[in-house]
Amino acid sequence: MSALSETDNWARVEELLAQDWRLLVDGELVPATGGRTYEVTSPVNGQRIASVPDADAAQVEAAVRAAAAAFPEWRATDPMDRASLVLRMADVVEAHIEDLALLDAVDGGAPMAVMAGDVQLAAAYCRYFAGLALEMKGYSLPSTSGAHFTVRQPYGVVARIIPFNHPILFAVKTLATPLIAGNCVVLKPAEVTPLSALHLARLLQDVFPPGVVQIVLGNGPEVPRALVRSPLVHRIGFTGSVPTGQHILRDAADSGVKEVSLELGGKNALVAYPDADPEEVAAGAVQGMNFTWSGQSCGSTSRLVVHESIADQVVAGIQRILDKRTIGSPLDPTIDQGPLVSEQHYRRVLGHIATAVDEGAVVVTGGGRPEHLDRGYYVAPTVLDGIGPESTVAQQEIFGPVLSVIRWTDQDDPVAIANSVPYGLTASVYTNDVRRAHRVAQALDAGYVWVNETSKHYMGMPFGGFKSSGLGREESIEELLSYTQTKSINIVL
Ligand code: NAD
Repeated sequence: MSALSETDNWARVEELLAQDWRLLVDGELVPATGGRTYEVTSPVNGQRIASVPDADAAQVEAAVRAAAAAFPEWRATDPMDRASLVLRMADVVEAHIEDLALLDAVDGGAPMAVMAGDVQLAAAYCRYFAGLALEMKGYSLPSTSGAHFTVRQPYGVVARIIPFNHPILFAVKTLATPLIAGNCVVLKPAEVTPLSALHLARLLQDVFPPGVVQIVLGNGPEVPRALVRSPLVHRIGFTGSVPTGQHILRDAADSGVKEVSLELGGKNALVAYPDADPEEVAAGAVQGMNFTWSGQSCGSTSRLVVHESIADQVVAGIQRILDKRTIGSPLDPTIDQGPLVSEQHYRRVLGHIATAVDEGAVVVTGGGRPEHLDRGYYVAPTVLDGIGPESTVAQQEIFGPVLSVIRWTDQDDPVAIANSVPYGLTASVYTNDVRRAHRVAQALDAGYVWVNETSKHYMGMPFGGFKSSGLGREESIEELLSYTQTKSINIVL
């Protein structure tokens, strides 16, 4: 992707924003019923940037019915042919990498260069999963009475509901697995960042047969709830917050017996032992906090549980790294961090910082809006020291650029501190003692653990949470298989 100037990027964004935003229902690009729309604003400047379709429950049901009608032919399509259309989706999104990244940047606030990385990652996931198409295997039993074997079959209509923080990555990636498995999908992007998914609707119109992929949108819970509660939807894949995940479980139970997977929030710990290199820990803490996305990443290691003997060096190292980072417009190709996604979220994050200070936190750096930015929802990378493991800021997911430093001494058990939250998504351990590394990695209540590393996802390694952080695993063959159900066939000979 070429690195154009911020001015050139704004010019291209203006062109992209001039489009008529449509839903994808039954192969057609359509407005919401009755022409209803809602306004989308940019976190860069708080200005209105688009009017997008605001569907209702009846339109969702129409999309679900179209998906159900397309299902028999799609499930009968050879898996390799289904996979080849997912490969085509990968090519199409990559061919539009710049536009999709720009839309995500202006809509969600993360730097466009980083969002271009998300587009590439989305395409890579499509290719990875397409390559696994023939791994949706069953097995057979030894028998003299007959043939006993299992097959994996699709569910039918799958609902996928995604959050705001990686809009195009999640839109594309969450379509890939259920489609390869033979399901038809209704995708619901987040209402605050719908633009790249609506642009994707246009790009995919000619890729998949009508009804196989639907993209619907509405402002508020009516649309996603209608999707979850639809009698024709038996499999729901959700990524988002814990309260919404719980809501989905209740709605799913009230409307049938449905398979639900949940990728939810985290309050993840980076545990640093005295034998770790303080500079390495500092670099890992900055990377793990995902400041690039203003901390809006589920796997962020937002609690630095560091041994007192190296804590001062680590905190000083973090400050040195953060001093070199830039914050500003996500359309500027040189910047490291953009704004938070919305005014509401900005106020929420500032509220968390204020609570922490009230509870005795020491602001090492950041703590609010950077001085050089007078509009937009920017919060400077913030490090809070002197945090108690039980304090509010150490227990609740902030989903902002706020790192809490929890110091421990030889009298404390850092693993118990790490495990003391209701979440269990990721965790990181820094130590040079190989036995301790193994022991601690086993003991941490988290679904994804790094040793002497943070933040990186390895394609093929199952990603998902323990405790309140979720149900099910993604980014691996387990995700693909989870969009199939097993049937046992017994043939008497
Ligand atoms: P959110 O839960 O507010 O919204 C997510 C989606 O759910 C949106 O599309 C929204 O429209 C929809 N929704 C809202 N109410 C609903 C309802 N009653 N029924 C069904 N759907 C409903 O989350 P968010 O603020 O967009 O995203 C941030 C959260 O997502 C954080 O908690 C973060 O940790 C989590 N997240 C988790 C992962 C992961 O892989 N575990 C990845 C990214 C984000």
